[in-house]
Amino acid sequence: MNGPSADPTAANYAANVAHNYGAPPITLVKGQGTLVWDAAGKRYLDFASGIAVNAVGHAHPHWVKRVAEQAGKLVHVSNLYRNEPQGELAQALSLRCGPGRVIFCNSGAEANEGLLKLARLHGQRKSGTEGACIGVIVAEKAFHGRTFGGMSATPQEKIQKGFRPLLSGFTAVPLNDLAAWDKVIDARTTAAVLIESIQGEGGVNPATPEFLRGVEKLCRERNVLFMIDEIQCGIGRTGKFFAYEHAGVKPDAIAMAKGLGGGFPIGAIWMAPPHDDLFQAGSHGTTFGGGPLAATAGLAVLEILEAEQLVAKVAERSVAWHAALRELVTLRPDLVKEVRGAGYMVGVILHVDPLPVVASLREAGILTAPAGGVAVRLLPPLNASAEELAEAVAILRQVLGGWKAA
Ligand code: PLP
Repeated sequence: MNGPSADPTAANYAANVAHNYGAPPITLVKGQGTLVWDAAGKRYLDFASGIAVNAVGHAHPHWVKRVAEQAGKLVHVSNLYRNEPQGELAQALSLRCGPGRVIFCNSGAEANEGLLKLARLHGQRKSGTEGACIGVIVAEKAFHGRTFGGMSATPQEKIQKGFRPLLSGFTAVPLNDLAAWDKVIDARTTAAVLIESIQGEGGVNPATPEFLRGVEKLCRERNVLFMIDEIQCGIGRTGKFFAYEHAGVKPDAIAMAKGLGGGFPIGAIWMAPPHDDLFQAGSHGTTFGGGPLAATAGLAVLEILEAEQLVAKVAERSVAWHAALRELVTLRPDLVKEVRGAGYMVGVILHVDPLPVVASLREAGILTAPAGGVAVRLLPPLNASAEELAEAVAILRQVLGGWKAA
């Protein structure tokens, strides 16, 4: 149905769009809430959410109204001048992160670049010499983005291959192995650690609360920045506003993006005092970051989360949903190894390659995202209803239940 002959967009992509995303299988033309439709009119439950981006679903009336009104008023001014929505969004984020300061950018990778530059400045302040303390400890299977800093912080061959030499100073150690982190966090040479509270791309691997608390303690003892990447797991997705809150830790700096704009590109870093003065005038910046339109999209998302109590609803609805998903292990123990994650960030971990399963699920009417070569990742919008969660389980049961080993 969606081959080049049936779908002019497919032909257009095949001829003109670079192949770095392979050949996407369908063309999506319309969305409403948790649903999307392709060019052939087929309806899907969108449990990929643009990879954890559409936090409030598609075409939420409040989001559309706020963004449309702002588009008619003021779209862009650069950071040479103040704009009202940026100030309001920075304040709203500081209310959630704690006292501190925010720098806006345009994507997750760019947010992590900001954190990595912050780590350099901290290392310099700590050691008194530029370049003397640049170490950043990351977790194995981490994913922090496709820029040079992001790739350097992403210890995966498939990401780094072809782009070396990368930045130096990164050390990867197994997630949740506190003893290993204790060994490599060096008071003299380590500037920062960078950890996803729940690894997304790596296969939905949660950092345990004990591990996060243990690393936080080591960082405090050794004057090392405790930096958390909440780009995928943040903004309500796990049933807390930030996933690190489940562990009761207090990061020195946080990267966020994805769900923050509800589909409009925006990223941000938040920095706690005394690190929030490390960036001085002229030391960092971006033309588009925190523009009035993007910041308004962010404000609209936060307003909807509040008005509809979505973070609490994710926590509440995910209890029954996870229980129903775990029954997939009983249904097909030969195929499904486990179900893990938190809230609306779930990995159905398979014994087989998830790619054909994701394709079959799509054909059966649900969009999901593969992760880490092991997981079918479920990332519904935060306003997905109990009925929609149940419909997703029914499709998974039907597809996995009838799955024939290759
Ligand atoms: N960090 C994490 C945890 C991510 O999941 C991603 C994207 O998947 C990134 C960083 C990079 O974000 P972006 O694709 O917006 O550059």
